Amino acid sequence: MMSTFTEQEQVYKNIAVAGAGASGAFLTLLLGKNPYNNVFLFDEKPPFSTLLPTGGGRCNITFEQKDVREFVKNYPRGDKFLLSVLSRFGVDRTRRLFNDLGIKTYVQEDNRVFPSSNSSVDVIKKLSSHLKGQNIHIIRENVVSVYKKTDGFELGTKHSSYIFDKVVIATGGKGGGFELAKSSGHKIVELKPSLTALDIKEKDFYSLSGLTFKSVSAKAIYNKNKYFAEGDMLFTHKSISGPLIFKISALSAYDEYSTENPLEISFRLTNVPPEQVESEIKNNSKKTIKNIFSKFAPEKFISVILSVSNIDANKQAAQIKKSEKEILMNALFDFKVHAVKRIKDSEIVTAGGVDLKEINPKTMESKITPGLYFTGEVLNIDGFTGGFNLQNCWSTAYICSVSI
Ligand SMILES: Cc1cc2nc3c(=O)[nH]c(=O)nc-3n(C[C@H](O)[C@H](O)[C@H](O)COP(=O)(O)OP(=O)(O)OC[C@H]3O[C@@H](n4cnc5c(N)ncnc54)[C@H](O)[C@@H]3O)c2cc1C
Repeated sequence: MMSTFTEQEQVYKNIAVAGAGASGAFLTLLLGKNPYNNVFLFDEKPPFSTLLPTGGGRCNITFEQKDVREFVKNYPRGDKFLLSVLSRFGVDRTRRLFNDLGIKTYVQEDNRVFPSSNSSVDVIKKLSSHLKGQNIHIIRENVVSVYKKTDGFELGTKHSSYIFDKVVIATGGKGGGFELAKSSGHKIVELKPSLTALDIKEKDFYSLSGLTFKSVSAKAIYNKNKYFAEGDMLFTHKSISGPLIFKISALSAYDEYSTENPLEISFRLTNVPPEQVESEIKNNSKKTIKNIFSKFAPEKFISVILSVSNIDANKQAAQIKKSEKEILMNALFDFKVHAVKRIKDSEIVTAGGVDLKEINPKTMESKITPGLYFTGEVLNIDGFTGGFNLQNCWSTAYICSVSI
């Protein structure tokens, strides 16, 4: 087991951690390995319970990408800050530490890293088994106040108050930590939902619910902002969703799109060159246009395009009009939809949070209130899907654990 406290001064410390989610409970586990730390973990919820739904119940722990500069490109916010954090504690060290904690991991085809058990329940059990030291105290109450005193902090819950040398706020993207941070003089960058499904103007396409397009490229435009992304997308009965759409929603998290001013997204749904489709039309003049175009995109999708454009699906290729061909070619190479809003409560993470300018990335300590630390999603850091958000939690927790 790697020592987590060799870099620290060996003096007894009373430390409070607010929030027992991914980063707070992981930090407590690391701090608890040092017998000089007396750690109190505060949360109404049991430790690590926020890991339960992650990765669809499989817990996508991180993403296998050794080049830190490439890795941080997956964070629309926090990339520069994480460069230093991940250089010290990145994917390799995370996977080794997880292995030491009894959680073997493997890399999936798409480079996402999962526990070998493929079970977030197993991850929660294994990580929680390390929260048993005599110097670890789990208090099932939320923190309601933190005040800086001359020598330490006074921390309040609904029922009690405590004195600590150091306090860490790890309350995630939806917790009470923003108020605690504000009361300690911190600026909160505006909070917005990120990694959301999107509602589009073109409702006819919701009849394609369940249909997935693999490795699609997309360009999204909102006023002067342009975003490019690749990945899989799918239709649900009331939204467009999937990793590609989540990426677009993260990149455009601060755009206020609406029915009047939507986010225009154009997809290239196939990787074949347009010339190939043209020659297919030319060489199969007796075939129906539906048959020809269904070679390049799902038949169900082509049927909807034909239907909404009032084109006879059984028309032979030889009879196709120029304008009809253009509609069908655009459906494959420049399929446009208009996002009018984010689907309420579909967000996976929160964009915005504690302003990173006020945090030292070498220690996770506040530059405004010495002795106060922040880890995880409460910070203005958010990543795409793929394990990036949990990696932020593991890494900021580790850096905090060796600095506090
Ligand atoms: C459905 C879903 C699936 C996801 N899947 C993945 C995935 O596979 N991979 C990935 O990388 N990311 C994933 N994420 C994102 C990831 O789970 C989060 O980024 C991560 O959990 C954030 O960790 P955190 O410790 O900062 O906050 P959380 O894990 O949200 O924990 C915060 C904790 O603080 C507690 N709290 C709040 N206020 C207070 C207070 N005042 N006092 C004390 N405690 C408080 C809360 O009860 C909570 O337990 C997923 C998110 C969702 C919603």
